[in-house]
Formats: sequence, structure tokens, C-alpha cells
Amino acid sequence: MKALTFQGERDVKVIDVPKPTITGSQDVLVRVTLGAVCGSDLHILHGHTPMNQGAVLGHEFVGVVEQAGPEVRRFEPGDRVVSSFFTSCGHCALCRKGWFNQCVDKGTFGHGEYFGGLGGGQAEYVVVPNADHSMEKIPEGMSDEQAIFVGDILATGYFGAERAEIKPGDVTAVIGAGPVGLMATMCAQLFGPARTYVVDMVDSRLEIAQELGGIPINAKEVHPVQAIERATGGIGADSSIECVGLLSAVDTAIHCVRGGGTISMVGVPSAVAGDFPYLRMWLKSLTFRAGWCNVQRYMAPLLDLIAAGRLHPEKIISHRMKLDDAEEAYRMFDAREATKIVLTP
Ligand SMILES: [Zn+2]
Ligand SMILES: [Zn+2]
Repeated sequence: MKALTFQGERDVKVIDVPKPTITGSQDVLVRVTLGAVCGSDLHILHGHTPMNQGAVLGHEFVGVVEQAGPEVRRFEPGDRVVSSFFTSCGHCALCRKGWFNQCVDKGTFGHGEYFGGLGGGQAEYVVVPNADHSMEKIPEGMSDEQAIFVGDILATGYFGAERAEIKPGDVTAVIGAGPVGLMATMCAQLFGPARTYVVDMVDSRLEIAQELGGIPINAKEVHPVQAIERATGGIGADSSIECVGLLSAVDTAIHCVRGGGTISMVGVPSAVAGDFPYLRMWLKSLTFRAGWCNVQRYMAPLLDLIAAGRLHPEKIISHRMKLDDAEEAYRMFDAREATKIVLTP
């Protein structure tokens, strides 16, 4: 089968690899109908995330079940499915507490042997282990493009917004208008903020943020913390959702909220450690939450919200390309020439 593979830093290639086969009784073989390129893929491309040569990339995908292991209960051949970007067992102590992203037996798709040795979704086929706990069926009438982001960036945007504790009438600030920031902007609206400021430096991204209910702040033109303070009578936002991971963005997220406010960080950290403003956190009674999304908990309700027309995640897709052109897709996404690219095998 055709698959996009990692060949080394800044080197990915579409090549022929063996079609994966089911080995575990709870595995499902999925024929991929749509994959997407994610910001985390760029971390691999740049060598920031360790990856073995030849491993198949891609962790955002939807497809059709081609074969299901004997112990799979929720899926059968022919089902259209969306997968979480990682697998969880569903029965370890942390899964039973509802923290599927902390599962002791998890694996991440498209991240090679250091992250569970799973295959990837930028390919014609992928095997999903622990399928019952890692996938959802796509509701009838919902397109692949509508469903695909439920397994990663939409769930992450929702997770970020939920943990920002937005109340009706609040002012919230989304830091970063990349794909996750745009999803957070969209999901923030579900919690009823009066205003959602969105900070970025790329005009085309800020334009989409505006379409999704955000008020754009271009950090190239104004100091974002000062702009938010001015817009809130010198007080600051009630909450912020950090969607970049750069320490400077985390800093903005911390400094733009009012006393008693909440910071919710979902951006993948760009550094292991940095200065943390302990005194400010204490003086201002701030709440700081950080973490990567507990996807499995949100997939079903997000699919329901999409089906009901309350969320339109497909709006952020800027480019539709063939898997054969995945190398060019990575180049474009890396150069910020594209907001979000989907790939058809
Ligand atoms: Zn991702
Ligand atoms: Zn588990």
C-alpha cells in the first residue's frame, strides 16, 4: 500500500509499504478515506519528536472498517469510523478514572516505535488496536471532512475551552489561531462568552478566527496583553486558552487574564522548562491548567454537536490534496501557506 513515511529530519516520502494486518483480537483494520496533516507532524518533520526511519506518519484519519478482530464488539466491516489519535485500553486504573490519555497501555498513531509502534493514517490502511475504546462510528449523513477532527484538534480545542471555565458573558482570549486555536475559538462559543479575542500574527488565520466568532488581535501590530487590557477596562480577560506551546505564548496567556482568572494551556510545549511566574499566580489567585486532550471522552458529544449543526470544524480546511502529494503538503503547511490540509489516499 501507499503511505507517507519518515526518512529523516526534513525528509518524508510517499512509498510502498506492506499493508498492515490485524494481530490482536481487539484490532480493527481501517481503509483510510481521509487523513489530515497536523502541527504535531511538523514536530516530527523537524526532528523535535523522536521517530524511527521508515515509520508511517499520520494520526488524524477517518475510514471504513475492513476487518475486525474476534473480540471487537462495537464495530463491523463496512462501518465508517473516526479514530482518536491515540489508543486506550479502557480498563486500566487511569482509563477507569476517565483519563484515557493517561492510559498505561496507550499508543499514538503515526509516531513510530517510541510511541507504541502503531501505524499511521497518512496511508491507505491502518490498524487500530483496542478499537472499541479508541474509535467512534461516524453518524449517517456526516461527511469525512466534518468528522475527521473529532479525533484530535477539535477535541483538543474543546478540552482547552472547557478547562478555561468560560461562563456566559465572560471575556476569553485564545492565544494562537492555528488549527487548534481556531477549534478552541469555535468551541469557546459553546460556553457563551460575550467576547473571544484571538491573538496571532498571520492575517489569513485571524480572518478565519473572525468568521468563527473571534475578535482578531494581530500581535505584529499591537501588544496583545495591552490590547486585551484596554478592551476590558484595564482588568484583563476572564480566561485564556493557549494553543501554541511557545513559552512566549504561554506568557501572553498568563498575563492577559484578570485576578481570579483561569489559564488553559493545550499547545504542545516547545521547551522542557521555563520561568513560571509563581508570584503573579499567587498574587492574582490564578488557575493554570495544562495538558493534551483526553480525546476519547469528547468524541461522541462532539459528533452530536456537529450533527446538530452547532460546530463546523470542516470550515478550517484550506487545502484538499492527494496522499501522493503529501510531501508537498508538509512543505506548504510548514511554510504556513495552508491552514489545514486533508489528504485523500
Ligand atoms: Zn495532531
Ligand atoms: Zn487504559
